[in-house]
Amino acid sequence: MKAEIVATGTELLLGETLNTSAHYLTGKLSSLGIEVDYHTTVGDNLERLEQVLRQAIGRTDLLVTTGGLGPTVDDMTKELVAKVLDLKMELDASSLEQIKQFFGRRKAPMPSSNEKQAYFPKDSKILPNPIGTAPGAIIEKNGKTVIILPGPPFEMRPMFDNYVWPELQRIIEPQAERMKERVLKVFGMGESAIEEVLGELMSLPDITMALLAKRAEMHIRLVARSSATTSGEALDRVEGEIRRRLGDKVFGRDQETMIGIVGQTLINKHLTIATAESCTGGLLGAAFTQEPGSSEFYLGGVVSYSNSVKREILGVSEENLKQFGAVSEEVAKEMAEGVRSKIGSELAVSTTGIAGPDGGSDQKPVGLVYIGIATPEGVHAKKFQFYGERESVRQLTVQAALNEVRLHMLKNERRL
Ligand code: AMP
Ligand code: MG
Repeated sequence: MKAEIVATGTELLLGETLNTSAHYLTGKLSSLGIEVDYHTTVGDNLERLEQVLRQAIGRTDLLVTTGGLGPTVDDMTKELVAKVLDLKMELDASSLEQIKQFFGRRKAPMPSSNEKQAYFPKDSKILPNPIGTAPGAIIEKNGKTVIILPGPPFEMRPMFDNYVWPELQRIIEPQAERMKERVLKVFGMGESAIEEVLGELMSLPDITMALLAKRAEMHIRLVARSSATTSGEALDRVEGEIRRRLGDKVFGRDQETMIGIVGQTLINKHLTIATAESCTGGLLGAAFTQEPGSSEFYLGGVVSYSNSVKREILGVSEENLKQFGAVSEEVAKEMAEGVRSKIGSELAVSTTGIAGPDGGSDQKPVGLVYIGIATPEGVHAKKFQFYGERESVRQLTVQAALNEVRLHMLKNERRL
């Protein structure tokens, strides 16, 4: 089943209001296996709205509209849907009664313009609105379904969840075909490199694959389109092959996050960790403490932004600071070792780098970062070159540091 979402409201085109409803509705429809082919946004303009509705009804099975159900003259969604579907507008007495009661509860007379909100295209199934005065509607005609919802998200969402969701389940029931989705999460590999390695897997007949670039991660989204059991098998098969080709670059799937995976692995291995941060200024500690249960593995950290704190609290040597500079492999290693012995954790991770926009040089450009890992077996540090603004460099450093901890634990596992 194909769907289109038409959001109406001039405020959406002025950049005043973000079209959050399209995002919300698309997520819901997709999870029911309904494919959303178009998002259209149109202002409160009769001709353009009519044109958009006519086009949508012409090309889709399910049209969902938001907005334009208010009492004023520019609220015309229901009237134009009726016009496009060639249906008359009819008064719904019980909706009128409910709108009157809405004003009654507020001890205010009902303005006559609100009467308009009780009229619907003939044979509409009316969706009550317990929060506002604009009821919604579902109309089925000639094999097409139109769902009309109010604009304010706090009215639209409960109406969708309480009334539209069960109706949609009924409508899509007879169709055996469902979409199943799986997301594999990759760290440390770009879009084109992944595409090269995956090659022919990118265009399998039964699985649609898409690469989505996130700030520090790449997501590989797999969508299988077939009956419930066979689509699960197809996803398992392709996931297995992707993992074989990308190895430890794949860190998780679906709802899993980098910090979630790292935290859980630390807990499973009964390991503790500490942080020594320079360019991330505490962000790495914040990441480690993001989820409940982090006290099981995170002991604490030192934000050693200045050289004097690196020296005096972490024991970084004056010679290394002088000879190699604060942003160097040597200092990253000493920071990790220093915090590990000071705090007494099994593992420690350090960050030192040039977040920018100032402070870069030819030898040490903005975005140069060293991440150190200290363990009972020894210490090592890795060099990274990130690109982007200060905040990006800092966030990428946090994610890379978490990934280094993950890789260290994976390698140790293999050695056992
Ligand atoms: P309406 O009177 O039904 O057109 O709705 C108007 C109110 O809902 C305004 O406050 C808008 O900012 C908000 N609104 C309308 N459409 C959307 C949308 N697609 N996403 C988020 N807010 C919206
Ligand atoms: Mg509006």
